[in-house]
Amino acid sequence: MMRSGLLWLSEQQRVFRFVRTNGLARRFARRFVAGETEAEAIAAAQDLNGRDITATLDLLGESVTRAEEAERARNVYLSVLDRIAATGVHANVSVKLTQMGLDIDPGLCLANMRAILDRAKAQDCFVRLDMESSAYTQRTLDFYFQHVAPVYRTWCGVVIQSCLRRSAADIERLIENKVRVRLCKGAYLEPPDVAFPDKPDVDANYVRLMRRLLESGNYPALATHDVRMIEQARGFVTERKLDPAGFEFQMLYGVRRDLQPVLRRQGYRVRIYIPFGSHWYPYLMRRLAERPANIAFMLANVAKEAVAGGR
Ligand SMILES: Cc1cc2nc3c(=O)[nH]c(=O)nc-3n(C[C@H](O)[C@H](O)[C@H](O)COP(=O)(O)OP(=O)(O)OC[C@H]3O[C@@H](n4cnc5c(N)ncnc54)[C@H](O)[C@@H]3O)c2cc1C
Repeated sequence: MMRSGLLWLSEQQRVFRFVRTNGLARRFARRFVAGETEAEAIAAAQDLNGRDITATLDLLGESVTRAEEAERARNVYLSVLDRIAATGVHANVSVKLTQMGLDIDPGLCLANMRAILDRAKAQDCFVRLDMESSAYTQRTLDFYFQHVAPVYRTWCGVVIQSCLRRSAADIERLIENKVRVRLCKGAYLEPPDVAFPDKPDVDANYVRLMRRLLESGNYPALATHDVRMIEQARGFVTERKLDPAGFEFQMLYGVRRDLQPVLRRQGYRVRIYIPFGSHWYPYLMRRLAERPANIAFMLANVAKEAVAGGR
C-alpha cells in the first residue's frame, strides 16, 4: 500500500515541481544522488575508485517529451564519456531509452544512442541500457537486438528484472547471444499479469536467473542489496568453483554502504550506480518505496533541522 502510494507519487510532475524547490528534500536526495553536475558525479566515482570500487554514471531524467531535452541528455552523456576518458576514472554509463527520445520518435532515439555508443566504442567504455517499466521491456530488447547487438554488443548490455514473468525466457535468449546482463528485482509498480505480485516469488526468480547467469552468462552484474541474494550468489560461486572475477555485484549510491567494502575485501568486484542531475525526484521516490524506513530517516532529519532552526 505504502509502496504503491510512493510509486504513484514518483510519477506526479506537479509534486516534483513543488519538492524540487524544497531545501530539506534536496538535502535528503543527496544521500542517494551524487549532485546535480557531471563534475560531482565524476568526483563521487573517483572517491569510490579510491576504495577499489568502480562506478556507473546515470544522468537522471526519463520519459522526456521534447526532442531538445533528449539531445541535451545525449550531450551530457557524450561529455561524461569524454570526462571518463580524460580522467581515467573506472566508470561506465547507464542510459534510459525514454531519456533519448524513444517515446517521441524512435529515429531520434536511435540517432542519440548511436552517438553515445560510437563514442563509448571509440573509448572502449561500456553503456548499460537501464530497464524501465514493463511497457518498455519488449521495445528495449527489440531495440537492443535490432540496432545495438550487430555493432556494439561488446560495449553495451541490458537489464532484466526478476519481478517479470517473462524474464526467464529473456535471459535464455540473452545468454544464447552472449549479451551482458544486469539482473535486478525491478523498481516499478507492475500489473500481476506481467509480474509476480508476491515478493518471495520475485526473490526466488532472482535466485534462479542469477544462477543461470553466473553459470552461462557473459560477465553478469548482480544488482541487489539483499544479503540473502548475495549469500546465494556467493554460495553458488563457491560450490561451482566459478571465477569471482567473472561477474560483479552492483549497488546504488548511498545504499548499504556498509556491505560494499565487505564484498570487496572478500575478493568480489563491486560497482556503484551513481545518479546525478536535477531530475532526482522520481528516482528518490522509488528509493523510498523500496525501503519506507527511509521516510522515518527523512522525517527525523526534518525534525532535527526544525529544532536547530528554532534555536
Ligand atoms: C546497480 C543497480 C541498478 C539498477 N537498475 C535498475 C533498472 O535498470 N531497472 C529497474 O527496474 N530497477 C533497477 N534497479 C533497482 C532494483 O530493481 C530494485 O528496485 C532495488 O535494487 C531494490 O531491490 P533489492 O534487490 O536491493 O532488494 P530489496 O528486497 O528491495 O531490498 C533488500 C534490502 O536492501 C536494502 N535496501 C534496498 N533498497 C534500499 C533503499 N532504497 N534504501 C536503503 N536500503 C535499501 C534493505 O536493507 C532491504 O531490506 C537497480 C538496482 C541497482 C542496485
